[in-house]
Amino acid sequence: MTRYCVALGCSFVSKSNQKSEISLHSFPSDEPRRTEWQKACGRTQLPIDPRLCSQHFLNDAFEFCSRPRKLKPSAIPTIFYHESAKSLKQTRARACR
Ligand SMILES: [Zn+2]
Repeated sequence: MTRYCVALGCSFVSKSNQKSEISLHSFPSDEPRRTEWQKACGRTQLPIDPRLCSQHFLNDAFEFCSRPRKLKPSAIPTIFYHESAKSLKQTRARACR
């Protein structure tokens, strides 16, 4: 099954036949935290089962030594490309690889 990351500007797609260092994480089921995640990723419309990839979390958001990587219950995603795009407009040309 193919899963993808819902964050704006992120095109991470996870395929079951592909091993990756990046993991995908389901949104929390409790409403306040789910709303925080939603706000953080800049989306107003989310799919039924939204996921964020591990690229949006700092290392200390993960449980120590867990495999596959598991998020701490209090983890909030903080690293987003659309955030840096706002402050670094001039570097946009460099994004074209
Ligand atoms: Zn992502």
